[in-house]
Amino acid sequence: MDVISHGLWPWFIFNRKKNWRWWAAGWGMFPDLGTLPQIYYLLKFFGIKNLFSIENWDTLFIPEGWMFTYFLTHSLITPWVIAGLYWLVKKRLPWPLLVGWSLHILLDMFTHAGVYANRPLFPFSDFSINGVMWSNPWIFWSNWLLLVVAFGWLAWRRWQKLNISRQTRKT
Ligand SMILES: [Zn+2]
Repeated sequence: MDVISHGLWPWFIFNRKKNWRWWAAGWGMFPDLGTLPQIYYLLKFFGIKNLFSIENWDTLFIPEGWMFTYFLTHSLITPWVIAGLYWLVKKRLPWPLLVGWSLHILLDMFTHAGVYANRPLFPFSDFSINGVMWSNPWIFWSNWLLLVVAFGWLAWRRWQKLNISRQTRKT
């Protein structure tokens, strides 16, 4: 999925938790920082001047070593190891991190292909699903349609609440 959606879904899940929702959004987007080394590689060594000129990211050739951070941040193992360490110290789980990050991978697992196919069990297994890229118009727009419905519903509920409190103030 696109990085904005990765922030919006966790925010939606935690929308009632004022202290958590922005953390959840941040951790939801965080794994895509793992793409920075490949962007550096493409610009510096692959001779690509403009990233927007790349049409098919899935068919690019990127050496394994440059993919390491991507596989690491797109593995379900990583957030659970971090959450486990956090639990050892604080005796509670960092839910915004765990949910935001895991959801990112669950969505990406099926919406990436080729070199960018996620390896959810990395580094223990190279297992991956050759899915349909999130940039596919059907996937991209149905995801955004769902987001509009979800956030529209939140806005409607909020508006209703405001109306109710206004009415009770009048009487
Ligand atoms: Zn991602």
